[in-house]
Amino acid sequence: MYFTTTRLHQELAGGKFEDIIIDEAHDAENEFPFKGNVDLTKLEKLIKKYGAKKIPYVSIATSVNMAGGQPISMKNLRELRALTKKHGIRVIHDMTRVAENAYFIQQREKGYQHNTIKEIVKEINSYTDGATMSAKKDALVNIGGFLAVNDWDVFEEARNMVVVYEGLHTYGGLAGRDMEAMAIGITESVSDAHIKARVGQVIYLGQKMIEYGVPIVKPIGGHGIFVDAKKFLPHIPQHNFPAQTLAAEIYLDSGVRTMERGVVSAGRKANGENYFPKLELVRFTIPRRVYTQAHGCNCRIGCKGLRSPK
Ligand SMILES: *Cc1c(COP(=O)(O)O)cnc(C)c1O
Repeated sequence: MYFTTTRLHQELAGGKFEDIIIDEAHDAENEFPFKGNVDLTKLEKLIKKYGAKKIPYVSIATSVNMAGGQPISMKNLRELRALTKKHGIRVIHDMTRVAENAYFIQQREKGYQHNTIKEIVKEINSYTDGATMSAKKDALVNIGGFLAVNDWDVFEEARNMVVVYEGLHTYGGLAGRDMEAMAIGITESVSDAHIKARVGQVIYLGQKMIEYGVPIVKPIGGHGIFVDAKKFLPHIPQHNFPAQTLAAEIYLDSGVRTMERGVVSAGRKANGENYFPKLELVRFTIPRRVYTQAHGCNCRIGCKGLRSPK
């Protein structure tokens, strides 16, 4: 599934973006536990249509943001690796939310209950040829990220480009202090206790919203709650931007900053026409290590925020 800036960079580089996520990902109601999976049949069709040489890489994401923070399974990754290996196609991994995805594998996939998050992250990466990381998400820092690749030639080429776009490769546009913070953030992000509390908080809010009858994407994702704006504002047609409208109204009403993930985020075609994605969502992303459900309760009986206001 597209991610805004990832797709833009692919298009700026002269590529054509193709969505090969499973159909379940485009259905807010479907409770399939791994809605981030790649549809291997769709990929095989593309290989047949264009030839493997025209496909520079398969871009996978852990977890898939635009589908509502949905994970990819280890089984699907293993099968994807086998298929791409056969055709000599690289797998490039957007690992921005890899720790959250690993948590869902540990919780939901057979055979991983006794693996640590660290071990699962390592296995995920073993099926890929390279990765990009926006470290201000799972890796808990204010700024920064990295590119990692297995292929020395690609590394060398990227390293030379860093000089032009970011700064010398030894710091990659980041202050030494920020790189130190990132190293610590990566370590802490794969701690089992941390990620359990983190995803637990997201699920807590999601369940509250379900209790209040808010239509949200299911299953609840790893980093936020995604409200189905078409269902919430059924009188607003998609060309009038229901998710953008809802995000604006939420801000006016409460000061809470959400994010439109629908027709506006999907961008426009070269001819100026809108893309109309099936999902028209408002994302409530939960900041890491800021508040927990123990904060912010204004009742006087010391329930620590665990009860719903009546
Ligand atoms: C935030 C994000 C990016 C972009 O990272 P920046 O650090 O904001 O440039 C890429 N992919 C995913 C999945 C993201 O959530």
